[in-house]
Amino acid sequence: MSEIRVNVGAPYSIFTESGLLDRLGKEIKKVTGAHKVLVVTDTNVEKLYLSRAVEAIACEGYDVYTFVFEAGERSKTAKTYLDIISALGERGFKRTDAVVALGGGVVGDIAGFAAATYMRGIDVIQVPTTLLAMIDSSIGGKTGVDLPFGKNLLGAFHQPKLVAADISLLSTLPEREWINGIGEGIKYACLDGGRIARIMSDGLNGENICEFVTLCAAYKADIVARDEKEGGLRRLLNLGHTVGHAIEKQSDFAIAHGLAVAYGIGVMLRAAYESGELPRSDFEFISAMLEKAGVFELPEITDEIIAAVAMDKKAEGKDEISAVKIAAVGKCEVCKMTLAQFEKYIRL
Ligand code: ADP
Ligand code: ZN
Repeated sequence: MSEIRVNVGAPYSIFTESGLLDRLGKEIKKVTGAHKVLVVTDTNVEKLYLSRAVEAIACEGYDVYTFVFEAGERSKTAKTYLDIISALGERGFKRTDAVVALGGGVVGDIAGFAAATYMRGIDVIQVPTTLLAMIDSSIGGKTGVDLPFGKNLLGAFHQPKLVAADISLLSTLPEREWINGIGEGIKYACLDGGRIARIMSDGLNGENICEFVTLCAAYKADIVARDEKEGGLRRLLNLGHTVGHAIEKQSDFAIAHGLAVAYGIGVMLRAAYESGELPRSDFEFISAMLEKAGVFELPEITDEIIAAVAMDKKAEGKDEISAVKIAAVGKCEVCKMTLAQFEKYIRL
């Protein structure tokens, strides 16, 4: 088992191991004084792993309750969130009790937000079950739900007490969700450049997946520790996301987040190469990773995509864009530019 410490205000560990789910109760006991535990999950993960999780927690003497919602981003609403809050209230959860988020990014975000706000904050344990959640969304304390006006508009920072990533749960992950995780994986490969990039370029397999998840989680943990609330450094993790979000939105979310990020990285890669900022060998190395993930051709940078980028920035109350440029494999930098400069850069 690997343990990564996340050195934020209230430090916590990320564990990565196969078989961790069946030891969940023991690990939870080390980090919370809870008596009651609400396990939140979605309808797909429920069928696969909920009973094992409940058993592993209950055998340590906890009163375990469950809350299951319909799988999919569409459930990431204020209503689902309030339903979880009601479940906690009706079952008499106290300030010292805890929530376990068992699932992908959607479960982690909603359950994390419920825990962040119920009685001004109770413990949450993140048990990510998708590649994306293991390497990205379960770490760092961002929680929230979507509103009719946009994604993640209602939320809070709330660090978990523990992240328990059982790698063996990835064996049931559908293809689309793999690709979703790989998009974020390529992001870490570009940022880190070392072993993560080598594994990504060789291709993920049963032999290297645990090491890969551990390295990506450690990379994110280090950045989060140095910038807990996204003041500066953490913006590096937005590589590929400015264009990625626009592509996602434009497709009305038919293109999954991770794939959109991979396209977004492709656009930044092309821009960096064509403007002479990136060596050819680095361009080819990253291009090969993108092709392995199914990104062969980049989408055209249409006026709609530019408009979506502009809208995104407006929603954040900014005229400036913090674009993450790729200077080399393992060397990315946050650059501030105006929308017009950004448009010129990516349309080169
Ligand atoms: P993400 O982690 O990509 O943000 P979601 O939380 O929406 O996404 O999860 C993606 C989909 O994968 C959901 O339909 C979810 O129920 C399903 N899922 C999550 N974990 C697993 C798993 N280990 N095996 C099979 N399906 C899973
Ligand atoms: Zn992302």
